[in-house]
Formats: sequence, structure tokens, C-alpha cells
Amino acid sequence: MNAAVAILSVGDELVLGQIEDTNAAWLARALQAIGRTPGERRTVGDDRRALADALRALASTHAAVILTGGLGPTLDDLTREALLDVVSPGAALVEDEAGVEHLRGWFERRGRPMPASNLRQAMRPPAARLLANPHGTAPGIAAEAGACRIYCLPGPPNEMKPMFDNLVAPGLRDDANVVATAALHSIGLGESALAELLGELMVRGREPSVGTTASDGIVSIRVRATGAPDVARRALEETVAQCLSRAGSVVYGRDGEPLASVVGRMLAERKLTISTAESCTGGMLGSFITDVAGSSAWYVGGAVTYANERKIVDLGVPAATIEAHGAVSHETAIAMARGALARFETDLAIATTGVAGPGGGSEAKPVGTVYVAVARRDGDVFSRRFHFPGDRTTVRRRTAHLALACTRFLLLGEGARSLLWSEGEAVRVERA
Ligand code: AMP
Ligand code: MG
Repeated sequence: MNAAVAILSVGDELVLGQIEDTNAAWLARALQAIGRTPGERRTVGDDRRALADALRALASTHAAVILTGGLGPTLDDLTREALLDVVSPGAALVEDEAGVEHLRGWFERRGRPMPASNLRQAMRPPAARLLANPHGTAPGIAAEAGACRIYCLPGPPNEMKPMFDNLVAPGLRDDANVVATAALHSIGLGESALAELLGELMVRGREPSVGTTASDGIVSIRVRATGAPDVARRALEETVAQCLSRAGSVVYGRDGEPLASVVGRMLAERKLTISTAESCTGGMLGSFITDVAGSSAWYVGGAVTYANERKIVDLGVPAATIEAHGAVSHETAIAMARGALARFETDLAIATTGVAGPGGGSEAKPVGTVYVAVARRDGDVFSRRFHFPGDRTTVRRRTAHLALACTRFLLLGEGARSLLWSEGEAVRVERA
């Protein structure tokens, strides 16, 4: 037996992948917020036997189990029966008076006759109690199996969440302990290169624990400390500081802070403005930037120049440059960035041009080849060639993220730094 809390999600629709299991992720976070550690997570279809087996197994190894789903009025909702099999095998479900009252009141207030099938929802195992549901017809059920507390909550998230907050969390809350977490977001190194820098901080079983997750070029370091509030928070910050000193300047933010907002803050502090010249990202870069509230203080605008003609007319890229080097090249990326500097009259400009795929690749420039140039009015232009793995959407998202990273490193004075997926040295061209 451990103090962890298991999460059991119930429903064929989850097993078949027809809907996403958002309840389990929400519950895992909610448990940590009240100082409890999430344990094993399982998903089971609408099958009484499989459901009872899973519940029994989880109850024998956890301090509590939180189940969601299978409490509806229809015959495929079997949570009540499975719970009965686990907590009172051989007994029959009993009708709960308060539960019947709740159902009658629910339908009366809505002026609708109650379908007889709904009465199923007032049934519970004899040794269990119902959890009131002000937001729907299905009450929850709480019961005990040995030393394990079991809470069955309705599947619809808008009913499950308040029931957890109001009726389950107070009983599960561990005031003596907290689970303190922090996420440090980095860009520029791959997951394994970053892990090498973190070294033994990542060893399994270390307290606080350190792990990494990667998404579209952003690698996040996740730190988690459990214990008495003061002790856990201090331990968390100590480990965070160690991670920061080992990872170095690739870490740009913490706890969900977007890269674009970090770049924006740097620009605002330096009183600089920026513009964009986008080809393969088609406006995604501008979209990431304008996701940041207040970006109008430093983002002027941009041009989406997909066709060569538009690069020439809208940005002033010389036709001869495109002819000689191609639209996907250092030379074109640099000319696009310089064009944006001049046309939008900004202090910096970012340009993207590449082959997002699935077609259009060549031997010299395979799908995923992208050039990103960042120009400074008062400084040099840096251009990098990247080769991004992944499908079209992934290549475009990675381009937008790495373009922001190039801008950040330029502002940090590391304009030529080699980055994840960059190929060869950065090309540096002196101010025109
Ligand atoms: P049920 O209580 O099994 O009748 O579930 C009713 C509805 O709740 C389902 O059709 C889903 O729309 C929703 N639901 C059930 N389980 C989950 C879950 N784990 N995550 C998100 N939604 C869920
Ligand atoms: Mg169901």
C-alpha cells in the first residue's frame, strides 16, 4: 500500500479513442494541488467484470481510487454494479432515498417527466454513500474497500470537477505535505543533449525529481518536490537553481511562459521594435507573436510573401538573388529580413523561407530545409540553415519556435550559436 491516489477512467468511448480523457489529466493536477501524489492511471471500457477487476487491483495498492464515468442512466453504465462487486460482493444494490428525491426534484424543476431508467442513478451498494451532484442527474458514490477509499464521479467534466473540489478534495487533502512543481522551458538543445548537462539530477528516485519533455523544439525540464510545504518549496527552488546553472542560456522561461512573450519582454526593455517576413510559416510567426497581450508595443507587423513575386515586390528581394540561389537560401532569407527592416522601419526583422513539404524537396534542399535570418538595423544579419524532421505542420511550428529562439540568442549576443537542427555554421553578413 502506498499513499498515492489511482485514477480510473471508464467508458468505451475512451478506450476506442473517440474522445480524449481530459478527466484523468485534470484530476492528476488537482491531486497534486492538494498535496497528494497521483499513482497508477487506467482506462477500462464499459464491462462490469473488467471494471471490477481494475477497481480491485487499484484499491489493493493505493490509498484511494478516483473513478470517473459509467454513472449514467443507461445499461452500458456499469460503475455502480462493479463497485458493488468490489465492496459488497454477492449483495444487491439498494435505492437511496435522498438520491431518489434529488432525481424527482431535478425533473420536476425542469417540468419533465422522469424516465423510469433514471431511477438507476439513485442505486448504490449498501455500504456506500452518494455524493450530491448539483449540475446533473448522476450522483457520485463513495465507498471503502479495505483501507482504500473509492470515489466514483460522473464522466461529464463540468459535473466531475465541482464534485471533486467540493466533496472529494476536502477529505483527501494532505495539509502536512505539498507537491511543489516547476517547469523550465528551453530551446536550442535536443532532449538528450540537455539531459547530459543535467546529469545525475535526472537519476530516478532523486528527490526532488527532474524530468524532461519535448514538444516542437521546446524542451521542458520538470522539477517536482514532495514534503512539508516549506521544505518542499525550498528543495524545489534549490534544484531549479541547479538546473538553471547547468542548462545555461537555453532556458528562456518558467511555468508555461511563451517564448514569444520572453522575446517581447527583451525587446520592450531595450525599446526595440521588430517585424516579420514569412514564407513557409505563412503568418504563424506573426500569430505566435500576437498571441502575446501587449505585443503592439514592440511588434509592428509583417509580410507573408509566399510567391517569389511577392518577395520581390513587397520586400524588395532582388530577382537576381532568387534566380541565383533559389527562394530557399541564405541569400533570400537575408534579403527578406533586410527588406522587412526597411519596409516596416523596425529595429529588428525575422525572415523564414523553407520547404515544409510533403512535396517540393530536392536532393540539395530536402523537405524540412528552412532558412531563418534575423537582421538588426544597427548590427549584422545572421542566417541559419535548419533541417527539421517531421510532417508539414511540425516543420512549420518548429520553424516559428526556432525563429523566435534565433531572435532571442541574437539579443543575448549569441547570434551565431549553433542550435538544435541547425546545419553548418550560421552565416553572418555585416550591416549593409
Ligand atoms: P458516463 O458517465 O460514462 O455516461 O459519461 C458521460 C460523458 O462524460 C461521456 O460521454 C463523455 O462525454 C464524458 N466523459 C466521460 N469520461 C470522460 C473523461 N475521462 N474525460 C473527458 N470526458 C469524459
Ligand atoms: Mg459511459
